Amino acid sequence: MSVLVYTENWDNQFKKLSFELVSYASSVAKQLNTNVVALSIGALSQEQLASLSQYGADKVLSLENPDFKTFNALQYAKAITEAAQQEKAEVLVFANNISTRAVAPRVAVKLDAGFVSGCVSLPESISPFVVTKKAFSGKAMAKVQINKGLKILSLNQNAFGLIPNAKPFVSETFNSTLATSNAKLLETRKSSGKMSVLDAEILVSGGRGLKKAENFALLEQASDIFGATATVACTKPVADLEWRPHSEHVGQTGKVVAPNLYFAVGISGAIQHLAGITSSKVIVAINTDKDAPIFEAADYGIIGDALEVMPKLNESLKTFKSKS
Ligand SMILES: Cc1cc2nc3c(=O)[nH]c(=O)nc-3n(C[C@H](O)[C@H](O)[C@H](O)COP(=O)(O)OP(=O)(O)OC[C@H]3O[C@@H](n4cnc5c(N)ncnc54)[C@H](O)[C@@H]3O)c2cc1C
Repeated sequence: MSVLVYTENWDNQFKKLSFELVSYASSVAKQLNTNVVALSIGALSQEQLASLSQYGADKVLSLENPDFKTFNALQYAKAITEAAQQEKAEVLVFANNISTRAVAPRVAVKLDAGFVSGCVSLPESISPFVVTKKAFSGKAMAKVQINKGLKILSLNQNAFGLIPNAKPFVSETFNSTLATSNAKLLETRKSSGKMSVLDAEILVSGGRGLKKAENFALLEQASDIFGATATVACTKPVADLEWRPHSEHVGQTGKVVAPNLYFAVGISGAIQHLAGITSSKVIVAINTDKDAPIFEAADYGIIGDALEVMPKLNESLKTFKSKS
């Protein structure tokens, strides 16, 4: 028996989310008194693979088949199912993000498992198996009981945190063959060089308070100063007005993000926007209206005109960066 965690990587590098998943899986394994097996798919270095054992992985399975280089939900679901069978997993842990949302339900069907997405904490009981998840766009919590023998949980980013728990590094090569499929992926192309709002660790997000599309240059400047892990996001009206592309629109009808740092600049904080950002670790709001609802969700607030605050913030960030 084991807890199997699928540890996603980005360009063959693990991120904080990967370690958060292993930390979570390790704590679930402790509750079940069993081992944690981490599955990695991609050509990752030994150093990268070993980093998983720092957060409690008892064994790392590494699938390096070049056929898996491009993400394909059918393919990944088949491999993860085979790994779960090999390791006799009783719980599988995934991230609750856009790619695993296409994989985890497929694995659940293949293994006849019970699946709960969007978990926010450890199972509150093991027998019966009960977990808590976010519901109604994050405005409520739901307790769900899984009655199947095999359980699949997907964890919201930043919901659990990191728990260092160093174990000896044990790795094993894992093989899986290509799935037969009626559809074949021929090519994927990036729509732009910019990082997706889903992957960014820092989001500088703007609302209608920025007044016009050109003023988003201030947010782009901030994002550039923060560096490669930052990008710009926006509210729905901003995308509707075509000030920014819809791929940046965050919220109930847009992307649900969970960065480490979210700047809400000229954003009122409507419930539909908050639905997409409440898993952010730290929220900083800049707004002229001291009563704007965004300040209730924010950890830090600046009451002021974004067109005056942002240039000063960018200057301070530049100075800070040049010294660090
Ligand atoms: C079914 C449905 C789904 C929706 N889905 C989404 C969604 O997914 N995402 C989303 O974002 N919205 C969504 N909305 C829209 C949502 O209800 C709000 O209308 C929207 O989030 C408001 O966007 P905003 O904050 O940019 O604009 P506004 O509400 O107009 O707020 C602008 C803010 O900027 C401040 N401001 C003005 N000037 C300045 C200045 N110079 N400096 C600093 N601050 C300033 C104002 O005080 C105000 O708080 C949805 C609505 C519905 C009905």
